[in-house]
Amino acid sequence: MPPIFATEPTSFIDGAFLPAGDGFELPVFDPTSGQQASALREADAAEVDAAVKAARAAFGPWSALGSEARSNVLQAIDAKLRAHGDELAELEARTSGLPISGVRPLIDRAAENFKRFAEVASMMAGETFQQNEKYLTYTTREAKGVAALIAPWNAPLALGSMRLATCIAFGNTCVLKPSEYTPQSTLRMVELMHEAGLPKGVVNVVNGRGSVTGEALTTHPDIDMIGFTGGTTTGRRIMAAAGERLTPVTMELGGKSAAIVAPDADLERALDGTLLAIYASNGQQCLGGSRILVHESIAEEFIAAFVARAKAIRIGDPCDPATEMGPLAFEAHRAHVQHYLEVAREDGAEILHGGTAPEGRTQGWFMEPIVARAPSNAARICQEEIFGPFATFLTYSDLDEAIAMANASDFGLVSYVWTRDLATAMACSARIRAGTIWVNTPMMRELRAPFGGYKESGIGRDGARHCADFFTEAKTTSIPL
Ligand code: NAD
Repeated sequence: MPPIFATEPTSFIDGAFLPAGDGFELPVFDPTSGQQASALREADAAEVDAAVKAARAAFGPWSALGSEARSNVLQAIDAKLRAHGDELAELEARTSGLPISGVRPLIDRAAENFKRFAEVASMMAGETFQQNEKYLTYTTREAKGVAALIAPWNAPLALGSMRLATCIAFGNTCVLKPSEYTPQSTLRMVELMHEAGLPKGVVNVVNGRGSVTGEALTTHPDIDMIGFTGGTTTGRRIMAAAGERLTPVTMELGGKSAAIVAPDADLERALDGTLLAIYASNGQQCLGGSRILVHESIAEEFIAAFVARAKAIRIGDPCDPATEMGPLAFEAHRAHVQHYLEVAREDGAEILHGGTAPEGRTQGWFMEPIVARAPSNAARICQEEIFGPFATFLTYSDLDEAIAMANASDFGLVSYVWTRDLATAMACSARIRAGTIWVNTPMMRELRAPFGGYKESGIGRDGARHCADFFTEAKTTSIPL
């Protein structure tokens, strides 16, 4: 087992892990065996305060360093994380249950986030305005201060690196709280970032439950902004508290994304894509294509082929390169996904496959991928985020109906369209209310483009210069000529 399982993760403040000591401990489990792997020491309000103070002390020097010098540090982080790519991938797979075949490429992507956002920050340019040649007005951008960053459990390195990179590239410092379920890989990444030359105090990590450590952090009076990735219910709660101090928030929240399969689609490609969009990362991804809307003329053939492929998915040890689905991340989450089998039946849905533990996998939180057919888009399995390997099929008779169904959701993160017809693709792009529309491709993330949700899927946008709107203050100066 990787050594981190033998240690008790503590907070990382001002460039070092705190010594293990007394305090409330949370068990952390190995999802493959179901056994307790280690215990996480929870940070209380005093520890959170120490972390915020360290970030505040580091803010002056880090923001004054200048974008070029910061860029050198971030490039060194990129190289360091790549050099430890195999170690980080194994740690991520083992602790979160994500299959290593999917995780390994994401580590390079996580590393690249630091280099790419350093480039963006150093290329930032302001605007100038000349009024009747009597005044010159120009704009500059300044780092905003200390950020509270809150991360979910489903893809700690991919999501954590994105938030960290966008925050510190523009000269801010932060306190990050990873999920209490999967903190280990984030702690190792932050340790490596310091070995690469990140000054102490720029990134601090506190561990613990949302109701304790998370709330102490997001309500701390010396926090200048909150970057949150997680569930919509938690997002609402954080935003309500942030309103008390008018602390700015950016939020990447939940999804219930529709995938429209048109009758003219390349069906092989659509099958590959719809399977990947719902079952990649064990189905635990915000951008999962969980509602698959298939034209009635091809529905029977398409659903039968989808079920056959779902049955063939290789489930196993997340560190085995042949594994396509590992265990779900923790026990309560598997119970949550299984609960939706009952909800589905109550609502008159048909379960076509899955939901039980695969043969020979009695330990750990493994589950056969689920395929269901819903009676209508109003069914709870079509409206509530399950966040697991749970594909739900609906059929439609014309494109207007499909688009209406795609939009009949409180969420609006992404949408998928499978078609050979440009007019169909363009109609979906124009009329579906979601932040990203993927046509004939699943989950292509372009870092320079904005990413974020409509409706209850989020507030604000990630992606290159779009992050600058949140992580910097714009300042205007006017001078008579
Ligand atoms: P969650 O909302 O339960 O928890 C997210 C984080 O918030 C955790 O670190 C948790 O400890 C913390 N938290 C909980 N209550 C808090 C509080 N009151 N104050 C401060 N922090 C608090 O979400 P989760 O179960 O960890 O993650 C799954 C959710 O995240 C899904 O809804 C998924 O769609 C969403 N997600 C969205 C994106 C995106 O980019 N839109 C990406 C990944 C995950």
